[in-house]
Amino acid sequence: MPTPRVTVLGGGLAGMAAAYALARAGWARVTVVERGATLGGLAGTFETDGHFYPLAYHHILQRDQCLLFFLDAIGALPDVRWRKISMIFELHRHLYDLAHPIDFLRFPMSLGDKLRFVRLMLRCYRKSDWSDWNDRSAADLVDEWGGPGVRQAIFDPLTRLKFNRPCHDVSGAWLGARLHFREGTAPLGYIPGTNWTKVLCEGVTRLLADAAVDVRPSTSVRSLVAEDDRVTHVELDTGGRLEADIIVSTVPTEVYQALVATPRPDLDHVRYTAVVSAMFATKQPVTPTFYWMNLASLDCTASGMFMLNALNPTIGAPGDTCLNVMTHVPSRHDAFFRQSDDAILGGYLADFHRVFGFELDPFWTQVNRLALYAPVFHRGYENPPVRDAVFSNVYCAGNYRTFPSIASTGTALSSGVEAAAAVLADHDATTDLPGRIERFRLASRPRG
Ligand SMILES: Cc1cc2nc3c(=O)[nH]c(=O)nc-3n(C[C@H](O)[C@H](O)[C@H](O)COP(=O)(O)OP(=O)(O)OC[C@H]3O[C@@H](n4cnc5c(N)ncnc54)[C@H](O)[C@@H]3O)c2cc1C
Repeated sequence: MPTPRVTVLGGGLAGMAAAYALARAGWARVTVVERGATLGGLAGTFETDGHFYPLAYHHILQRDQCLLFFLDAIGALPDVRWRKISMIFELHRHLYDLAHPIDFLRFPMSLGDKLRFVRLMLRCYRKSDWSDWNDRSAADLVDEWGGPGVRQAIFDPLTRLKFNRPCHDVSGAWLGARLHFREGTAPLGYIPGTNWTKVLCEGVTRLLADAAVDVRPSTSVRSLVAEDDRVTHVELDTGGRLEADIIVSTVPTEVYQALVATPRPDLDHVRYTAVVSAMFATKQPVTPTFYWMNLASLDCTASGMFMLNALNPTIGAPGDTCLNVMTHVPSRHDAFFRQSDDAILGGYLADFHRVFGFELDPFWTQVNRLALYAPVFHRGYENPPVRDAVFSNVYCAGNYRTFPSIASTGTALSSGVEAAAAVLADHDATTDLPGRIERFRLASRPRG
C-alpha cells in the first residue's frame, strides 16, 4: 500500500527536518511548499559581491544537539571552527566585557551582587531541565538565585532589549534554559569562508533531493480546505491545489490561523516579535573588538550590535569589518518595523556614533525585516501541542513549540523531527532519528 500523501507547509529548518524524517522512514509522497525562492526561512542567506551573509547574526551553539547532528549528516561538521567570543555590555557609553576580570570589577554592581551573579550563572549552566520553572518568572529566578541587584543591573535591561518587557513578565524557564546554552561564555561555531547557515540549508536541501522529496519553492499556501475534522486540500497562490492525507504545518501560528477558516483561540497566546536587522560593511577598523554588544543603556534605536568577523574572520572580503545592527521589535505592526531603510540606517548610524564616538562609513548596507521571528516567551507560556487541537490530520512544528528551550536552528530542526515522529507513530510506523540525535556526541569538546 502506498504511504500517505504529506504536505509540509513552510520550508524553514523545521519543515525541512520534518520532510527529511518522513522520507527517511520510507514515506515516498512528501511535498514541501515554501514561499521563498530557496529553503531556509529565518536561517536564509543573502549575497553581496560574491560573499554570503546571514539575514542577521547566526552562530553555532555547542549544546545545540540536533544542529550538530544535522551538520554531521550533511558532512559539514569537520569544517566547523570554534571561537571564544567577547560579549560586551554597553552601559552609559562605557563598555564592559563581564568575562574579563578588570571589566567585571569595574561594572557598576556591588561586590556581593557580582558573586551572586556568578553563582546564578554556574547554577544555570548545570541545570538542563527547566520544566519546574514553567510557571515562574525570570524575576523569580534571578532574585532567588542571584538577587534583585543582579536583576536590575543585568537582566531587566536584557529582557527589555529582547521582549520589551521587564523580567517579571518573562518566563523563568526560558531565561534558565537560555543561560544553560552558555551563549556568552562557551566557544561559538562558524564555518570559514562562508555563512554556515547557507551550508546547513543547502546540505539539508540536498538530503531532501536524495530522498526524492517534492520541493516547491516560490510557492505560497493560500488556504487550507477542510471537511469535518480533516484538512483535505492545500490551495496554492499559483492557482493549483494539493490533495493531502496529512499536513505538517511549520509556518508561524499567526500565518496558520489565517490559512484555516475556523477561528483558533487556542493559538491566540502565541504572539510573535519581529526583528529589524541591518548589515554594514566597512573598511574602517572598529575597536574594541567584540562579537556581541548588548546596548543595555536602552537609549539606542538598536538592541544589539554584532561584529560578524570577530567570530568568523573570513566572512566578507579580506579586511572588511562586517557589522550587524539589529532591533527586537514588539511586533511587525510596530511603526519602527515599517520605517524606510534610510530611516532605519540613519538611526543605527547615530547609535554607532553614540557608542564609538566616530562616524561609521559603510561601503554597502542591507536592511532585512523578519516579520515573524519568535513568540514572546512570557511567564506561563505553553507550547501548542504537536497534534493540532482541531484537525485530526494536522501536525505542528516550529520555534513556537520549542519552549522553554531557545529558538535556534537546532531546536527548529528537532521540532520538525518530533512532528514527523508523531505522524509516524500515529500510522504504526517508527523512526530511529530522535534516538540517534539524542545519542549524538561531538568527538571532542570544542575549544575556542
Ligand atoms: C535575528 C536572529 C538571530 C538568530 N540567531 C541564531 C543563532 O545565532 N543560532 C541559531 O542556531 N539560531 C539562530 N536564530 C534562530 C533560527 O534561525 C530560527 O529559530 C529557525 O531558523 C526557525 O526555523 P523555523 O522553520 O521554525 O521557522 P522559519 O524559518 O520562520 O520557517 C517558516 C517558513 O515558512 C515559510 N512560509 C510562511 N508562510 C508561508 C506560506 N503561506 N506558504 C508557504 N511558506 C510559507 C517561510 O517563508 C519560512 O521559510 C536566529 C534567528 C533570528 C531571526
